[in-house]
Amino acid sequence: MTTETVAETKVMHYAWHLATMRDYFESGATRSYAFRKEQLKKLKQALLNHEQDIYDALYADLKKSKEESYASELGLLLAEINVTLRNLRRWMQPQSAGTDLVNLPSKSKIYRDPLGVVLIISPWNYPLQLSLIPLVGAIAGGNCAVIKPSELAPATSTLIEKIITEIFPREYVEVVNGEGAVIIPEMMNTFRFDHVFYTGSIPVGKNIYQLAAKQLIPVTLELGGKSPTIVEADADLNVAAKRIVLGKFLNAGQTCIAPDFLLVHGSIKDKLLEKIKIQIEKFYTADAASSYDYGKIINERRFDKLISYLSQGKVIVGGQYNKSKLFIAPAIVEDVNMNDPLMTEEIFGPILPVISFYNTEEAIKIVKENANPLALYLFTSSKKKEKEWIENVSFGGGCINNTDWHFTNHHLPFGGVGNSGIGAYHGKYTFDTFTRLKPVMKTPTWFNPALKFPPFKGKLKLFKWVIR
Ligand code: NAD
Repeated sequence: MTTETVAETKVMHYAWHLATMRDYFESGATRSYAFRKEQLKKLKQALLNHEQDIYDALYADLKKSKEESYASELGLLLAEINVTLRNLRRWMQPQSAGTDLVNLPSKSKIYRDPLGVVLIISPWNYPLQLSLIPLVGAIAGGNCAVIKPSELAPATSTLIEKIITEIFPREYVEVVNGEGAVIIPEMMNTFRFDHVFYTGSIPVGKNIYQLAAKQLIPVTLELGGKSPTIVEADADLNVAAKRIVLGKFLNAGQTCIAPDFLLVHGSIKDKLLEKIKIQIEKFYTADAASSYDYGKIINERRFDKLISYLSQGKVIVGGQYNKSKLFIAPAIVEDVNMNDPLMTEEIFGPILPVISFYNTEEAIKIVKENANPLALYLFTSSKKKEKEWIENVSFGGGCINNTDWHFTNHHLPFGGVGNSGIGAYHGKYTFDTFTRLKPVMKTPTWFNPALKFPPFKGKLKLFKWVIR
């Protein structure tokens, strides 16, 4: 077979397999509450059975410790399953809605319809939970799902495929591993998914949006951006230092919502930086390379990119590196140029540039240079400042006097705005994302007033009275 014929056969195979998934969905097998509950329980049990394998895979891909893997991946995923299992029956119930005067005595209800066959595309930085929390929503919503994990976290992607094929038939949930740039267009050009849930970078997000647009497929786009952290003069600096260091250097800075850069009031800058420096050592020791709690950079390509950022300012803390270990020590950088890639691109690594400001207005202006960040963190003790930032800046979500943790609160919708994405999920919002509101009005047959039918001549006054 020539290379071309092999490629054609693969595409035909996708088309055929995805059609069997469509048939499975259309059979109605995935719709009942009992079925959905059963699958969620199976998923939970399989994750628990493979707990050690999960830790091993996340260590192999990103050098995450067991504890970090639980707190930022497995634990969040199990919590999402638990909250869904506790509430699913209620979420699935049709909601009664009001009926306006012109439609009385009809009754109105809003049903929650499954979407169909959905595609979930995930990145490498939290490769487990970013693939499987959306799957929890897909299952809870009564859908079939194709998961495309990232090829850049191969240990976790392979494990996801193993776990899923152990518990679900392929026509219900399919895992497709391989190069996204090839596989995703192949699938999306041969099949009409009912929804695409994509987590990843802004440029690829735009490609996905274009592929989806060709067939009018709705999308959720969970993207990135430059998330600012602002420390006002009245902030508690001990608390700020601790929480900024954790949020920034978790997973070696490879977190979509990590503080990307630090804006600090000039009057407290030196004090804060001193505290940050001490905190870095406390968390990761003087030699972060051998720290149990410090991760590695995903690959050489990303490593080289991050090293190039280090030369775009003055490194005042850390920044030592070792390519063979894919290690970069937590780094703080000063004297940056706002036009350099360090300040225009999402850093996505353990490098924190610092910029001083002297009034909030000036700081807001700097933040707006990279519009619509995925997250924003503000450290202040002033309610007035809090209000000023929240009301004047558009951002996906964020924290006051904290970093990152809003992601873990499943009562909050998580998502971006504008450049950082479309849509949101977590908890009930995940279920909402993977279902569609289906409004239905039921009209009794015994009430058929002549007013509603032609001839209409002379009824204007009555229309004005009932249609309001
Ligand atoms: P990426 O966009 O390179 O890859 C994500 C997925 O897209 C992978 O599964 C990959 O196979 C696929 N892909 C890659 N190129 C493709 C193409 N040309 N066409 C179709 N699919 C393609 O992202 P990444 O490097 O894995 O992740 C880093 C980015 O993700 C950062 O920008 C980060 O901020 C963002 N992110 C966002 C969130 C969030 O929740 N908003 C979470 C984690 C990461």
